[in-house]
Amino acid sequence: ESQPAFVHWESEELRDHHRRLTQRYEACRSQKMALDMSRGKPCPEQLELSREMLGIVAADDPLRAADGSDCLNYGGIDGIPEAQSLFARMLGVESKEILIGGNSSLTMMHDALTRAMLHGVYGSERPWGRLPKVKFLCPSPGYDRHFAICELLQIEMIVVDMLPSGPDMDQVERLVREDDSIKGIWCVPKYSNPDGITYSDAVVDRLSQMKTAAADFRIFWDDAYTVHHLTPEPNVLKNILAACRAAGNPDRVFLFCSTSKITFPGAGVAVLASSENNLGLIRRQLAVQTIGPDKINQHRHVRFLRDMDHLKTHMERHAAIIKPKFDLVLRKLEEELADKQIASWHKPNGGYFISLNTLDGCADEVVRMAAEAGVTLTKAGATFPYGKDPRNRNIRIAPTYPSLTELETAIDILCLCV
Ligand code: PMP
Repeated sequence: ESQPAFVHWESEELRDHHRRLTQRYEACRSQKMALDMSRGKPCPEQLELSREMLGIVAADDPLRAADGSDCLNYGGIDGIPEAQSLFARMLGVESKEILIGGNSSLTMMHDALTRAMLHGVYGSERPWGRLPKVKFLCPSPGYDRHFAICELLQIEMIVVDMLPSGPDMDQVERLVREDDSIKGIWCVPKYSNPDGITYSDAVVDRLSQMKTAAADFRIFWDDAYTVHHLTPEPNVLKNILAACRAAGNPDRVFLFCSTSKITFPGAGVAVLASSENNLGLIRRQLAVQTIGPDKINQHRHVRFLRDMDHLKTHMERHAAIIKPKFDLVLRKLEEELADKQIASWHKPNGGYFISLNTLDGCADEVVRMAAEAGVTLTKAGATFPYGKDPRNRNIRIAPTYPSLTELETAIDILCLCV
């Protein structure tokens, strides 16, 4: 990489420039603002889009599912058939490959990994937790809560680089071929958190075909942003379940998603899609944990989201609200930081984040300075296992929650700090 332009400045010029920026920074700091860009939450206007769902079930509604079962009563561990069918279409799988959970896909991921540690997965010789060591590959930057699950369960995390097409598959293939204690990999394959990258077909193929030393290796495929497009030309992700089946590894993948950012975070519906072998085992284990999920919420969701056309329209309404926020951040970054060779970023076509890289070694200081000036960003390092960004350069920007006015001020301050 070439040197930053500033390197060529005379020291007096540089001191003057720093003085001017420091004055601007001090002026911001004295305003004592409180702007939060730390978590990818929908804004209030987005939540309004789904309010109608709250009134979609009347008190005298019979609430029978398509198979005649009573949504008001216990039962139906897989979910109601019409919800399975809607999510099957959303994910491009079959209804029998869908198991519907509670309100959070993160819970399903946590539980899937915890069950693997306690009991193993379908085909395991031993529970993973009985092995001397369990390791997971963590393409990074990635989602901090995935890494937190591994930390909690004392699973050793190995950083794999993210490339514009997805994880560095040369690294992944070499690692999983050589080390049978590597039991899985975390993937956010579409509009990834935080880079906004969608895995290429070649990456999906290689993940499904690769030779793994561990026979019970699993891909944790967190398709959280599968319908969360920002442009009319959405990225297309190859179907991992089909690819794994075609490669002769039908049980390799656990696919997760939820409606947290379609309807209501915290009151949505979460889904696990996987092979019938995997679901068979999980269903038996789940049946000990619960007599069945919240079918009323599933029913509400199916009545509200209806079909793929309707879902698409609903997601376009989300995009209409948040696209201007992404555009504003990208425009500001362009205006303030482009051509200075002190920062780089991705332009996502969907998802919830913009990933900003400063010069090596600067991210924690930028985040600290921004916080002092009233702008809360995700903690530097959070996008890497153990909170340690080896290059200390990645900052995750979550533009959806603040208003456009707040966002403009917050990004000005962020750029100033950079
Ligand atoms: N996965 C990813 C990649 C996410 O970004 C988020 C939310 N920030 C989640 C999962 C959480 O999903 P849920 O609300 O279904 O637990």
